[in-house]
Amino acid sequence: MSAAIDPLPDMLTRLSLKAMRDRLDGLLDDAARRNLSLRETLALLCEAEVTHREQRRIQMGMGLAKFPFVRTLDGFEFDAQPSLDPRQIRDLAACRWVANGDTLLLLGPPGVGKTHLAVALGREAVRLGHSVLFVPATGLLTTLARAHSEARLEDRLVFYGKPRLLIVDELGYLPFEPDAAHLFFQLVSRRYERGSLLITSNRSVGDWGTVFGDPVVATAILDRLLHHSHVVTIRGDSYRLREKRRSGLIKPTSHEPDPAKQV
Ligand code: ADP
Ligand code: MG
Repeated sequence: MSAAIDPLPDMLTRLSLKAMRDRLDGLLDDAARRNLSLRETLALLCEAEVTHREQRRIQMGMGLAKFPFVRTLDGFEFDAQPSLDPRQIRDLAACRWVANGDTLLLLGPPGVGKTHLAVALGREAVRLGHSVLFVPATGLLTTLARAHSEARLEDRLVFYGKPRLLIVDELGYLPFEPDAAHLFFQLVSRRYERGSLLITSNRSVGDWGTVFGDPVVATAILDRLLHHSHVVTIRGDSYRLREKRRSGLIKPTSHEPDPAKQV
């Protein structure tokens, strides 16, 4: 007598319940061991599927976001950056501002953790189900300028208009090329009140007229950006230099105690 073929794995495949299918025997054994009711067993199977899909969604979202590296809020040393309020950053990590389509500006000198926080907050946004794209400002402006010269600007604006959160890193690090301010203005207008922008910059908002090379366009951009916005200004020393100072590679600054002299 041939053993009856179990139709269940095939049905689970047809229903695209892959995690349930792959873990079926183990989960059913587990349910039997724990004397679970039929309803509880079904919940256990569904939970395996839901968890698997959630993990896959997050993994895909992280890939699409194109983060330059992995940085997390847990890995951020708040003690090293006393000008930051940890509660404010944790509050921002709940991503209500992303849900509302607000702008977040992270401002401060080089090395204070702007990109670190931008990536960490972007990852939280992905985890919470938002689509995210991270772009370095220079790359973004080069792409927009090239698209403009090839009469494909509209396509690019649609592309950058899609993610729920667009992170533009290091705006103002290099001065804008002529025309770039207009292109950036079009991008900001496109996203205005539709999706969130997170911008990191080493220049204060007051300097943006100089950065953009056009005070009129800079004012129009800021008008939109600051309308529904959160501004976090980080003051203090570069984290990288701080690490070097600690290890004695370079001299401490006058306002930071020399670790070598501390008891
Ligand atoms: P910025 O974008 O402001 O120039 P980064 O975010 O690139 O600075 O930070 C430089 C490096 O120092 C990164 O590797 C970052 O992870 C690290 N870093 C900066 N600040 C902190 C901090 N407070 N805690 C932990 N790592 C930090
Ligand atoms: Mg940076």
